[in-house]
Amino acid sequence: MRVAKTKEFKTLVDKYGLIQETVSDSIVKYLLEDGDFEEDGHDIWGQTIDSVIEIAEQLNCSVKFNQVGFFFNIFKTFPDDLEMELFESLVVIGDHDCPECGGEMITIDSNLETIMDSNGVQEPYDRIIGELKECSNCGHQTEVGAYFD
Ligand SMILES: [Zn+2]
Repeated sequence: MRVAKTKEFKTLVDKYGLIQETVSDSIVKYLLEDGDFEEDGHDIWGQTIDSVIEIAEQLNCSVKFNQVGFFFNIFKTFPDDLEMELFESLVVIGDHDCPECGGEMITIDSNLETIMDSNGVQEPYDRIIGELKECSNCGHQTEVGAYFD
């Protein structure tokens, strides 16, 4: 799990002279250790920090999450309005390849091309020329190669 590298994230960490990976690690550590979230916490993948806090409330997390406390834990200072706004808009994603939520993209359909051997020595065989992939978490779909050709 990590924090998506958005423009907002860059603006926020630049303000503190930090690097995104370090802050991302701190945020994930806080969610895992202080919240009741799990490393493969699909329920928060693709969600903003603001929504994650809402989800934590619904799940009755052992730690009472709130935006300011969360921010303080990460940056060791209290945020101004702009910083809070940037922080709340950060998106938590998984470590896989879905561009929306970091979930795992699974091949759900393939476009096959039959290759004929012009000399008639080999049997014709199918070759995959395109695939339709779908995220197992959020359902985002993407085409790879010549799927619709
Ligand atoms: Zn996804």
